[in-house]
Amino acid sequence: MSGRLRSGVPLVRARLRSVSWSYAGSVPPPPATELDLADTAIFLDFDGTITTADVGMHLLERTAPHDDWWELHEQYERGEIGSRECIFDQWALVEGSEADLRRIAAEVEVDPGFVPLVHGLRAAGAEVTVVSDGFGFYVHDVCAPLGLPVLTNAVDFERHELLFPHEDRCCACSSCGVCKQAPIRDARHQGRTTVLIGDGASDRKAALLADVVFAKGPLAYWCRQYGVACHRFDVLADVHEALLG
Ligand SMILES: [Mg+2]
Repeated sequence: MSGRLRSGVPLVRARLRSVSWSYAGSVPPPPATELDLADTAIFLDFDGTITTADVGMHLLERTAPHDDWWELHEQYERGEIGSRECIFDQWALVEGSEADLRRIAAEVEVDPGFVPLVHGLRAAGAEVTVVSDGFGFYVHDVCAPLGLPVLTNAVDFERHELLFPHEDRCCACSSCGVCKQAPIRDARHQGRTTVLIGDGASDRKAALLADVVFAKGPLAYWCRQYGVACHRFDVLADVHEALLG
């Protein structure tokens, strides 16, 4: 992984500090690294990363008539089913009109560091893409004002059907709703250094591929458990500080 990282590159330099954000695992954090952000592709998860909580789980908690969705979530976390199967079956449990569901989704707050981080990264020349393997429809409401490219699932509200325009059935696992590895591979083929910022199970495969990983919550725990080097963060202001100072 470190072979793709650059040191001492002029232009914009982002110093990734070997932070001490309660990184208590047996795997040491990556060494301090300098990135040329003008040559970097940043991939941001949405649920629990851009937002302060998982919007999909919030919708399920608020609208599903029973708790079967939680067992699906646990099966997914244990690796017994893929994300596509998980959220397809969970979506069938979501009840409400489009207007109601958009209103409920909007109850979850956006991390206040999101907009400054995106502006800062773009000003430094980085490509920023949102990759979200959730119900998808609410991601655009947040990201459209910034003109951010978004790769996520889609909802046909008339048919109450969840669609997967970014699945990758040629992938070896072919079990995800959105293949988060595919755009990372594309960026690497273009010679870009890749950075993943995420928090959950849908970010694991991307974390195995990205050059630099920022992880919070369950993803940070998983990285520690499986020896995947990461920079742990709690809020996006931490990432801003690490990448932009
Ligand atoms: Mg997430």
